[in-house]
Amino acid sequence: MRGVLRWLAPLVVVTVLFGTAFGQAGREAPPRNVILIGWDGAQRAHLREMLDRGQLPALKALIEEGALVDIDVITGATDTKAGWTQILTGYHPEVTGVYSNGRYRDVPAGLSVFERLKKHFGQDFVCVAVIGKREHCGEIREPFKKELTEEEAQRILEEQKRLQEKKKAAAKKAQAAAQKAAEAGAQPAQPKEPTQKPKQQKPKPQPGAGTQIIGRVVEEGGKKYLVFEGSPYYTMHKACDVWEYGLMEDDKVGSLAVELLEKYKDRPFFFFVHFAEVDHQGHRFGENSKEYDEAMISADTWTGRIVAKLKELGLYDKTLIYVTSDHGFDEDRTSHSYAPYIFLATNDPLVKRAGMRQDIAPTILDRFGVDLSKLEPPLDGEPLTKPATKPVLKAPETRPAPAQPVQQQQERQRAAAKKREAAAAGAKP
Ligand SMILES: [Zn+2]
Repeated sequence: MRGVLRWLAPLVVVTVLFGTAFGQAGREAPPRNVILIGWDGAQRAHLREMLDRGQLPALKALIEEGALVDIDVITGATDTKAGWTQILTGYHPEVTGVYSNGRYRDVPAGLSVFERLKKHFGQDFVCVAVIGKREHCGEIREPFKKELTEEEAQRILEEQKRLQEKKKAAAKKAQAAAQKAAEAGAQPAQPKEPTQKPKQQKPKPQPGAGTQIIGRVVEEGGKKYLVFEGSPYYTMHKACDVWEYGLMEDDKVGSLAVELLEKYKDRPFFFFVHFAEVDHQGHRFGENSKEYDEAMISADTWTGRIVAKLKELGLYDKTLIYVTSDHGFDEDRTSHSYAPYIFLATNDPLVKRAGMRQDIAPTILDRFGVDLSKLEPPLDGEPLTKPATKPVLKAPETRPAPAQPVQQQQERQRAAAKKREAAAAGAKP
């Protein structure tokens, strides 16, 4: 027996060494599967602090195999609809029509990662979305146009005006509070109790999701209509084999994702697994609360269970995992009105550089072997696995003036190009 063991030992070592080497080579090759995991509302600085404290072991393990890079939000609001739409398409809001939670439409057909992958690989390729939110991520309301009586139109307009005023008053109040906090300056963080209590007394089904009337009143040919341009995900959801949303709790999202991995293990797949608790706890208790920490740990735990399931199924070495967020959180507050600092954590060793929110979809598509140069309209983002050919912008510390930085930059570039053209034309005889 001993003799045999002495023979086998070197073989085991060789196998382990080669196994590791093959594993890495495999990870650099095009993946069989990709899982995009969303930690909704995870602030980058907070995440880095927790990583340093060793509180996010599953994320750390992925990063050790791949990378952790900074992602900045440059176009679109730092909110859920704008965020996930951009992450799932790779475009600016001008292309998708999704600017914020309040200004959106059904994303035009064909632009989402789901639709692109189905087109590239065919129907045998599996697309799954398991989503923790309801209103701002997941909801699939169909576009409609409905004729209204004069009274109905009037009633809707009045209700919308009332909500608008309510929203304005709330924004003013928040601004005043921010001002007060800024004036307090070096003072330690304000006690959270007073702002926290009223919210707890009246439990909201989904923190951060505002009230709104679906649709807007328009007049055409003397008639009034209520027009709704659809939820951002309405068309893209049809490309998915499974589209589950409104699950709210990480436990429900995570356990369904694990179940579906088992179900689809024999076919190549793209999973979008969205955990909502970080955002929900941030709205309830604030960015620096222990509840926000706990929600991050919950998302990390489930990320680890997904990895464990992939390993159990023998799929881990063929699967790239990308963990990201739609937006960050306003420092020490219960809002994310301007929170442009997010991240991408991955086991993909080819991810090399920092980027912008529109770069995540191109990264996934490019790794799957989709020829990005053939996509129409051209993607706004670029893969994070290759050097950028467009400027990689950093979000400013404070909210930029109305025009977005990219637009400003493009305008400046256009103006400069015009000038050069004019100068060249002038120089010619
Ligand atoms: Zn939120």
